[in-house]
Amino acid sequence: MSSLYVHIPFCQRKCVYCDFYSIETVSLMGTFLDALDTEIALVGPVGEGVSFDTLFFGGGTPSLLAPSELERVMRSLRSAFAIRGDAEITLETNPGTVSLEKLRQYRSLGVNRLSIGIQSFDENELRFLGRIHDAAEASRCVGLAREAGYGNVSVDLIYSLPGQTVGEWERTLSTALALGPDHVSAYSLIVEDDTPLARMVSAKLVSPNPVEAEAVLYEHTMAVMERAGFEHYEVSSYARPGFRSLHNSAYWSHAGYLGFGPSAHSFWAQGNGGSQLRWANVPALSRYCGSLRKGELPVAMREEMTCAQLCNERIFLGLRSSGVDLRRLGDEFGLPADRLALAGALVEDGAAVMDRGTLRLTARGYMLCDEIAARMMV
Ligand code: SF4
Repeated sequence: MSSLYVHIPFCQRKCVYCDFYSIETVSLMGTFLDALDTEIALVGPVGEGVSFDTLFFGGGTPSLLAPSELERVMRSLRSAFAIRGDAEITLETNPGTVSLEKLRQYRSLGVNRLSIGIQSFDENELRFLGRIHDAAEASRCVGLAREAGYGNVSVDLIYSLPGQTVGEWERTLSTALALGPDHVSAYSLIVEDDTPLARMVSAKLVSPNPVEAEAVLYEHTMAVMERAGFEHYEVSSYARPGFRSLHNSAYWSHAGYLGFGPSAHSFWAQGNGGSQLRWANVPALSRYCGSLRKGELPVAMREEMTCAQLCNERIFLGLRSSGVDLRRLGDEFGLPADRLALAGALVEDGAAVMDRGTLRLTARGYMLCDEIAARMMV
């Protein structure tokens, strides 16, 4: 499995909690797209001989792209890389930025999955988060996606807002489910450094939810989603059977990907069976465009990953999602014996199950995922 990621670094307005790289100067889209074309052409040879299974437009707000702009990016990508005819092509979409016609045109360009950033159906919560849309617009966006012919629609939600009750979260979750999405990502609100939310917390204007309250909301989410027939296949991700995100699953299974745009990361094996590299682009549009104007890649960090880093990532990503193949991990990296004993203890404790050598967390284990991963890592 191989993947492509394109980061569109613009948002109409920044949300208070967000630490993804994006700016509000949407008028620079043309300048960015010139640089993106150059980056794609420069990186093209890296993916030679590879057929790509997934393509993801994230951000930022990719749905700020006019269809003609998306067409231009798709043309660049298709001329540099072999993208399979049946590839999963996802575009993150913000309610309030799309029309039926725009979604239809995206679809005709090959987009076959929409990931709609709704976050909440509560007007007060939407205002608090700084979203540009209201609840009615969010519902309408899902309807437009279906009307435009998308058979694979995901919605993103955020829970554990300051003081949020189970009843309030329940209303958002049930409103989302009533719209019939194929996939739901439900994230707890994290106070990221250097965000307006972090400053509000420092100024004691808001208090983050206590961990106990967050755990109750998470447990409630898992129960509701299971009753609604969704598979809980990653800590925050739920899918109807057959609708898991192939792109995100590729990340979690440690498959290779190439990322484009400011702040985008890549993870790729060097040559045939060569060492594994990770690199990240500069998280600043001006520097990104400046490097590419000189014909240089806008890379801020590049590292050859060590065995320990690879092993730990495999553990962390596997525990978050569909499990860690301990036998394979042992063969490749030589897992210490005490980690096998710990795996046994987790199973005994009901935090995990062992299925033909693969250790997979249960709902109870997902709640302690970070803690368990820290103990399992080498
Ligand atoms: S729309 Fe998405 S990427 Fe943009 S600021 Fe809000 S959360 Fe961040």
